[in-house]
Amino acid sequence: MRLKDFLLLDILKGFWTTLRYLFKRKVTLLYPNEKAPLSPRFRGQHALRHYANGEERCIACKLCEAICPAQAIVIEAEPRGGEGITEGSRRTVRYDIDMTKCIYCGLCQEACPVDAIVEGPNFEYATFTHEELLYSKDKLIHNGKIWETAIAENIKADEEYR
Ligand code: SF4
Ligand code: SF4
Repeated sequence: MRLKDFLLLDILKGFWTTLRYLFKRKVTLLYPNEKAPLSPRFRGQHALRHYANGEERCIACKLCEAICPAQAIVIEAEPRGGEGITEGSRRTVRYDIDMTKCIYCGLCQEACPVDAIVEGPNFEYATFTHEELLYSKDKLIHNGKIWETAIAENIKADEEYR
């Protein structure tokens, strides 16, 4: 038997390493109870936003659909009706995103002239089925309502940074 093995040097070295790290600043987080800070530019789950008066921001210009490199967005549009609506303006009747195709490049939100489609800060939306990741307009609007405050703050912070 080697002297090193006889004195259990490797085990003692291991204990010493444990002891040293016991008193160092922790670099791990107890997720999901603790979360790391996110950049305002973080590209997470998609959402469709409204103006404060409840009007849909999206004007159905389809720029997001055209620019999407993964062809994950499908839009169908119709003329927008109602009082006080500018003539010729449109709204979407269908706005689908296949989140399993999306590569989170952020081009859709960059292309949007009215900040309607955005990638919000939510990254906790894993599902058990593929179908649950096929987002409809209703789902995207729902996301927008839930995350509007955080999204608006992130857009403001990003604009100040630029
Ligand atoms: S983030 Fe990129 S890939 Fe995903 S929907 Fe937007 S443009 Fe398409
Ligand atoms: S989300 Fe923006 S880019 Fe896409 S159709 Fe609506 S207004 Fe146009």
